[in-house]
Amino acid sequence: MKTHRTALVWFRRDLRLTDNPALLHALANAERVVPLFVFAPEEEQQWAPGAASLWWLHHSLAALNGSLRKLGSALVLQTGPSLTALRRALRETDATLVCWNKLYEPAALKRDAEVAAALDADGVSVEQTNGTLLFEPGSILNGSKLPYRVFTPFWRTLDKELVTLPAPLRAPRQLPAIPRNVSRVELDTLELLPKIAWDQGLADTWTPGEAGALKQLKDFGKHVAAYPTGRDRPDREETSRLAPHLHFGELGPRQVVATLRHAHPGAAESRGTESYLRQVGWREFAHHLLFHFPATTDAPLNPMFAKQKWRRSRADLRAWQRGATGIPLVDAGMRELWRTGWMHNRVRMIVASLLTKNLQIHWLEGAHWFWDTLVDADLANNTLGWQWVAGCGADAAPYYRIFNPVLQAKRFDPLRGYIRQWLPELARLPDRWIHQPWTAPDAVLKHAGVELGVTYPRPVVDLGESRNRALQVYSELR
Ligand SMILES: Cc1cc2nc3c(=O)[nH]c(=O)nc-3n(C[C@H](O)[C@H](O)[C@H](O)COP(=O)(O)OP(=O)(O)OC[C@H]3O[C@@H](n4cnc5c(N)ncnc54)[C@H](O)[C@@H]3O)c2cc1C
Repeated sequence: MKTHRTALVWFRRDLRLTDNPALLHALANAERVVPLFVFAPEEEQQWAPGAASLWWLHHSLAALNGSLRKLGSALVLQTGPSLTALRRALRETDATLVCWNKLYEPAALKRDAEVAAALDADGVSVEQTNGTLLFEPGSILNGSKLPYRVFTPFWRTLDKELVTLPAPLRAPRQLPAIPRNVSRVELDTLELLPKIAWDQGLADTWTPGEAGALKQLKDFGKHVAAYPTGRDRPDREETSRLAPHLHFGELGPRQVVATLRHAHPGAAESRGTESYLRQVGWREFAHHLLFHFPATTDAPLNPMFAKQKWRRSRADLRAWQRGATGIPLVDAGMRELWRTGWMHNRVRMIVASLLTKNLQIHWLEGAHWFWDTLVDADLANNTLGWQWVAGCGADAAPYYRIFNPVLQAKRFDPLRGYIRQWLPELARLPDRWIHQPWTAPDAVLKHAGVELGVTYPRPVVDLGESRNRALQVYSELR
């Protein structure tokens, strides 16, 4: 005999059936289980999901509903406020238990605490589980019981704990039907897809949903041995591209660890797996940091940088956003982002360095643009990434480290394949000039059909001078 007749499972960013502790808890404790998703972007305050995330969410919800239906259930969609929607569903289904997997971002933590307190006062049982991170924030602390601010010791501690991780939970094989009378809205009425169809590139690149995530993990596992050497090459597909799947919880991090560690016994594979898991460790680090330092979504972790003066230039910001800075590697990255909703990690660092250091534009301008355009936009990872590059966060790149996009391009795009893919207007330039067309002789440009300022922009900034200016700003700050 189960304790509850009916339970609600409040799905949020755990859009999967496998290794979903909230779903499994509900099934173990109630005869009927009602899967519910409440669309309430206003509850995320100034970090409500951007356009690319909404596109992903639409398809991920459709996929989850499809999987639930195959097992005899269905996803009940509602609009917010979350508490109102939960109370309505509780009333309509006579449910007495609500289960959800926790989120750890500041706005979600506050909302969830309020919802839990209100439900408790209503006499409803609440079960909150962790399905999002390997370890909950607060559980990985340094010797003084304080949060780590540097990645390597954080990772050393976490890595040792990995052996204690429970095995991922299996997906249920069937589910009870949902009651007929529960009110719901249709997915299309949420209007998550863009009104002007700019999303073809996203559709060509991604398969949102749990099945897409599992396939991506399986395929990546086959070439994980190449990860340590290939992960810095934007011209190759050597990274896992699991970030959006992990963000929406179509895959849990425990599944990643278990799949890669157990499936690949060879030495090269296991080196690849360990190098890869270290990156998943950065995801944990980012989430733990944001939990301990919630103000960092909008303010630097290192207070020294709070007084930094930033330049305002709409024209330069726009050139950066549109991939029209005249600096090929930066423009290639920004166009990859615009077209596919994703950008290679190394290129993210380089475009962020150009914006915050050479152009001296506030890192939050860049963070907001990424927020709107990345399919993997994630508040913890994005905040960490931008503050790391700007030099004002935890374990940040030293402030004097200013990426040189020309040298970086030569090193990480040695065959010039990345530039040629994203900047076809430069494709006919010889290798020697393609990373810095402004230095090419007129005859070479002409022969390649390039007219600077007409077919391709001149650089918005002189890389050498702007580097010196940035160093000057930083030395004054110190
Ligand atoms: C300025 C900037 C902004 C960024 N914004 C985001 C963001 O909004 N969302 C996001 O998921 N990542 C962000 N990153 C981190 C990183 O670029 C992406 O996680 C990675 O490129 C995603 O591709 P992948 O899944 O193929 O990565 P892989 O190399 O296959 O890595 C595996 C997983 O590890 C995690 N990971 C890898 N690198 C990092 C990192 N540096 N910090 C945190 N987690 C990491 C991701 O979950 C990723 O899916 C940002 C980095 C920078 C420099």
